[in-house]
Amino acid sequence: MAEGEEIDWDSLTFSLTQTDYMYVANCELGEPWRPGQMLPYGNLEIDPAAGVLNYGQGIFEGMKAHRTVQNNVVLFRPDENARRFQKGAARLGMPPVPESMFIDAVEQVVAANSRFIPPSGRGALYVRPVLWGTGPIMGVAPAPSYTFCVFVTPVGPYFKGGLTSIELLISDEHHRAAPGGSGGVKAIGNYAPGMMPSKNAKKQGYAEVIYLDAVEHNNIEEVGAANFFCVKDNHIYTPELTGTILPGITRDSIIQLARHRGYEVTETKVSAEFAMQADEAFCCGTAAVISPIGSITHGDQKKVYMDGDVAPVTRELYNALTGVQTELAQDPFSWLHKVELNLPINMV
Ligand SMILES: *Cc1c(COP(=O)(O)O)cnc(C)c1O
Repeated sequence: MAEGEEIDWDSLTFSLTQTDYMYVANCELGEPWRPGQMLPYGNLEIDPAAGVLNYGQGIFEGMKAHRTVQNNVVLFRPDENARRFQKGAARLGMPPVPESMFIDAVEQVVAANSRFIPPSGRGALYVRPVLWGTGPIMGVAPAPSYTFCVFVTPVGPYFKGGLTSIELLISDEHHRAAPGGSGGVKAIGNYAPGMMPSKNAKKQGYAEVIYLDAVEHNNIEEVGAANFFCVKDNHIYTPELTGTILPGITRDSIIQLARHRGYEVTETKVSAEFAMQADEAFCCGTAAVISPIGSITHGDQKKVYMDGDVAPVTRELYNALTGVQTELAQDPFSWLHKVELNLPINMV
């Protein structure tokens, strides 16, 4: 988008708008990270034998910078993203990015692209940190060098006309992750295998698929790339973290906020059968925040959770979470991380 060009905030969706700057840092295997730099947003050069291109040695993160009702620009629990990024790096044999370097890079990219941060309530600046094995390697082994890159794109509010519920389909044919695998980290290789099942579900009129566990084919794990919750008799349930489920920061925040508000929350095995007898269900993640689930279909069975209106506990938790994120409400756990927009741009 050319400088000075007006951004039409109301036409933003969850898609890529190119911004002005990105952050790039490099590291040789076994050595510390070299200081990163800000570059104009654009293509990177990469060896065709790069570890990431051949063997999928890469991880990503997803975060949002919001402009609050008090006109502050804030990140939500970025230290949690930094820690998850380190765990993912370790799992894939990559050099972890120090937490301070991760947060500094994210702050720099948000500040340098501040003209793309939507006004309060009209979207967010989505932040995408990635770590790739970019050095060339033929054997299946960790690449000799690594690239840590952070770019951003403005995104619209997920629900334009307020909260709308989604129809979901339980997959009996595909699984997302197996015990001992990489389902618990944001490994890039976890996502392509879900594209075809998701596309097929959409063709049948569903918003997304629900994955069951790969061992018993019985317990709900995730909704596409979002975590699952259900509510029965005012008690909240979510699948326990077993290594195959991605430990969502939104998931953890909802658990803490719900308990703070007096709800009982249980992390346990949530069978498809139990979920389909619940009063409410929703899924959550940084992109969608909280998505109320209108129905779940499994084979020839269909559970409809509500007709029309959003169920009360789902709405209460949505308001509680977005209240903290927009500074409309108190921040009882000090989750907001203010970004100073006047950072100097460290271009080389
Ligand atoms: C990113 C992601 C989530 C949600 O995590 P948040 O930290 O809440 O954004 C859930 N499931 C999968 C598979 C994911 O990749």
